Amino acid sequence: MFDLIIIGGGPAGVAAGVYAARKKMKTLLIAGELAGQSVVSADIHNWIGEPSISGLDLTEKLEKHLRSYEGRGLDIKLDWVKSVSKLGPIFEVKTPTETFQTKTILLASGSKRKRLGVKGEDEFDGKGVAWCSICDAPLFADVPVAIVGGGNVALEAVLDLEKYASKVYLLVRGNVIKGDPITQDKISKLSKVEMIYSSVVEEIYGKEMVTGLRYKIGTNSEIKELSLGGVFIEIGAVPNSDLVKDLVKLNFYNEIEIDHQTQASSLPGIWAAGDVSNCLYKQNNISAGDGIRAVLNIYDYLHR
Ligand SMILES: Cc1cc2nc3c(=O)[nH]c(=O)nc-3n(C[C@H](O)[C@H](O)[C@H](O)COP(=O)(O)OP(=O)(O)OC[C@H]3O[C@@H](n4cnc5c(N)ncnc54)[C@H](O)[C@@H]3O)c2cc1C
Repeated sequence: MFDLIIIGGGPAGVAAGVYAARKKMKTLLIAGELAGQSVVSADIHNWIGEPSISGLDLTEKLEKHLRSYEGRGLDIKLDWVKSVSKLGPIFEVKTPTETFQTKTILLASGSKRKRLGVKGEDEFDGKGVAWCSICDAPLFADVPVAIVGGGNVALEAVLDLEKYASKVYLLVRGNVIKGDPITQDKISKLSKVEMIYSSVVEEIYGKEMVTGLRYKIGTNSEIKELSLGGVFIEIGAVPNSDLVKDLVKLNFYNEIEIDHQTQASSLPGIWAAGDVSNCLYKQNNISAGDGIRAVLNIYDYLHR
């Protein structure tokens, strides 16, 4: 019987694993991969303590730190969790081949970015196609960029990029923007920003890096093109919360609803941290902090 099972090996899971081991909790961390979403980033500039680090190097450092506690209160399994169920006061966690019992669970299973599914999206991923404006906006200084999306995340991306890019196009699929009116007002006053409504991206193209995109406009299906240095796809993310969807309260976006002081979910015994939760900002440092806050609270819960 474990005190704690952590599901996930991104920044939230790894930070939680280190803290749980240091608190001498009998802990198992199960992760499909010991890597977070930004493993694909060529250059991360906002991981505190590292002015510049590739996603791969950051992942290696996190793994090294985590594994330094392996066997000292912390077990690590590389596998995909298939189910989580409640058995009276404890929980059962199943992988395809094993079953584990635990007093508490921390979901740190992150999320997947929604993709457009168009030609060039995969080919130019990290070569002009970007997914995180807070992280990557400065890399697009003085070049024109397009942002695809029409919700709050896309509007925030406009504000991030407007400070750097020479021109910002916002390609909105419908004929209205769903983001907050206050942010829309702010954006309408920015001369660099151009909204393109009723637009559907058909293809992102380039040579070694992105040079432009083709999109279909309106009901007449006219094809148009934009010359660009970058494309930000900001059409949302899907949290990996399916494992506990019948156990805890999820919000409209399927994020696990948590108490933001403790990271506790609606079901005693289950906590969530990082991108799988309804935390406001989805960032590496924030996920790590959330994971730590959760473990400290789980420790208090187990010793109450
Ligand atoms: C391309 C890109 C670039 C980014 N760049 C930056 C950046 O520069 N700076 C920044 O601060 N943020 C960046 N972000 C955001 C940042 O990566 C996320 O906020 C962060 O990774 C969230 O961490 P997490 O631990 O909550 O989840 P994730 O990183 O999503 O990790 C989830 C973990 O859970 C595991 N998992 C999922 N389901 C299961 C299951 N069923 N069983 C077992 N394991 C499971 C996965 O294998 C993984 O280990 C970027 C995001 C993307 C997509």
